[in-house]
Amino acid sequence: MEPQLISQFEKIFIDQNSAESAVVQRIYNIFPHNKIEIVNEKPFPDAFGILSSNEFSRSKRLLYVTEHKGHFFKRCPGAKPGLACCNYFVLNLGLQCNMNCSYCYLQSYINTPLLTIYSNIDRALTELKEVADRYPQHTYRVGTGETTDSLSLDEITLYSRKLISFFKKYPRWTLELKTKSSKVDQFLDVEHAGNVICGWSMNPQNIIEREEHLTANLSQRLDAAGKCLSKKFKLSFHLDPMIWHPEWKESYCELVEKISSMFSPEDAEYITVGALRFQPEQRHMMRERFGLKSLVTQAEVFQGKDGKMRYDIEVRNEMFEFIRNQFLSKSRAWRVSLCMEVPETWSMTMASTPRQIPELKELFAPANTNC
Ligand code: SF4
Repeated sequence: MEPQLISQFEKIFIDQNSAESAVVQRIYNIFPHNKIEIVNEKPFPDAFGILSSNEFSRSKRLLYVTEHKGHFFKRCPGAKPGLACCNYFVLNLGLQCNMNCSYCYLQSYINTPLLTIYSNIDRALTELKEVADRYPQHTYRVGTGETTDSLSLDEITLYSRKLISFFKKYPRWTLELKTKSSKVDQFLDVEHAGNVICGWSMNPQNIIEREEHLTANLSQRLDAAGKCLSKKFKLSFHLDPMIWHPEWKESYCELVEKISSMFSPEDAEYITVGALRFQPEQRHMMRERFGLKSLVTQAEVFQGKDGKMRYDIEVRNEMFEFIRNQFLSKSRAWRVSLCMEVPETWSMTMASTPRQIPELKELFAPANTNC
């Protein structure tokens, strides 16, 4: 385990109800005991609601391990009126992230000054099993990277190992572990049913350095993807969020070159593209935390139907078209789709909506669940 990951946390609070959990036993083995405190109630009970920039930044260094009381399994937030969505389901195993991207939507979402890991993953798996038993004929795609990165803390939790083993029993289902880290060694030996997609959010190295602080660099992400491929895990790449800058075409061209020189279309289940988007209310925090050096805080953006700030639709279309053409110029077999985009962008850029594209039809089919 990297010493940086251990030193990153100032303090680890453990809810007494989680004290016997496997993840807490690991924490005792990994972290100096003087950083660990058992608590009867959630720390900082008064700091609830909108966080200041400083509180948000500090929350990344205060780990809190507790049981999750609500539902673990829920529909992707893209499934809203006005957005074309891929009927993805999310399994939230924590809240907040130890990396620090300037555009991160958690800046408008987190209302507690702690990075939380849920200790009761077994209940999450029970919830999944109940859905599987109730709807045996359905196929589901489940991701764990909505409210935290899927793998950046996985060396501590080892949740990937449990999930991969669980999904082995449900080969019709797909698990996607989506990350900007390079932490994969801890699960490479786990037997799987070929239904696990290891997905990387990708940006050119100049954007990673400028906007995606504390994440793995581009070559580390590509190397980690190569390791997963060697163990027959499926891959996905998400060129998302694309960030406009004067030399964006050169940067993204180089990125596509790197991906397509290391991997073939058969290696990647799919590629998604998306452009910068964020909630208007996080703009102030982004400026305070990243200043005007960030391309994100300088961006010229407009409010869309879903309330989020995005580049003008012409700019987005040009970016998506560019990426798609770059991949298709390497091979017509690359499958490139859009993520979290309005239907107008789909129809302008991809000529049709997801369900009208034969190779994406199944992927975007409604999952029909009451969850
Ligand atoms: S890796 Fe994802 S969750 Fe973590 S800070 Fe970046 S955008 Fe946010």
